[in-house]
Amino acid sequence: ENFEALGLREDLLRGIYAYGFERPSAIQQRAIEPIVAGRDIIAQSQSGTGKTAVFCIGMLQVLNSATNETQMLALSPTRELAEQTQKVCLALGDYMNVQCHTCIGGKSIGEDIRRLDYGVQIVSGTPGRVFDMIQRRSLQTRNLKMLVIDEADEMLNRGFKDQIYDIYRYLPPSIQVVLVSATMPQEVLDMTKKFMNEPVHVLV
Ligand code: AMP
Repeated sequence: ENFEALGLREDLLRGIYAYGFERPSAIQQRAIEPIVAGRDIIAQSQSGTGKTAVFCIGMLQVLNSATNETQMLALSPTRELAEQTQKVCLALGDYMNVQCHTCIGGKSIGEDIRRLDYGVQIVSGTPGRVFDMIQRRSLQTRNLKMLVIDEADEMLNRGFKDQIYDIYRYLPPSIQVVLVSATMPQEVLDMTKKFMNEPVHVLV
């Protein structure tokens, strides 16, 4: 298997190879195609298996480069993971002129507002700051196509459940959802039932 076989756009393939990836990892081989096909997916895998690139490639492939509207929202349990998502999107999207921004606690709210007003296609962040930006109407949710929930089990361990449900209420009802989790406790299953439509379950 190689990345070409996944049917990815040329400018994205260039970014993937320039980043140093040669072949998709096991989870990438199985999870990218359903995302690109528009399916909701549960990717169950440990960190270290290449799951960040799964959803970054998914978001970049589905992105409409012709508009700066906010189309993708990736939620992470920690600031570091949110920054990692942005870093990987910028690296893999290096030939796509992609606009990304990270909304995390501890950073300037004014800067978030300025960046979001200017227009960012991909927003990564932690639930608290993301919800704040939605409530301020700086983060426009109406054109969102995809919601990524990274490390869903860890998200719930850290007490973000209510904030994720609060955010979900602002999203378009037909939004595509990609959920990544190492484990599938009942609360994560509840979330998949509430947010997802006939998800593909990929276990690596
Ligand atoms: P993650 O599971 O997302 O934390 O990724 C673990 C590590 O694997 C990171 O350092 C990635 O850069 C690397 N990685 C992910 N996908 C690939 C790939 N297809 N080829 C080589 N390295 C990869």
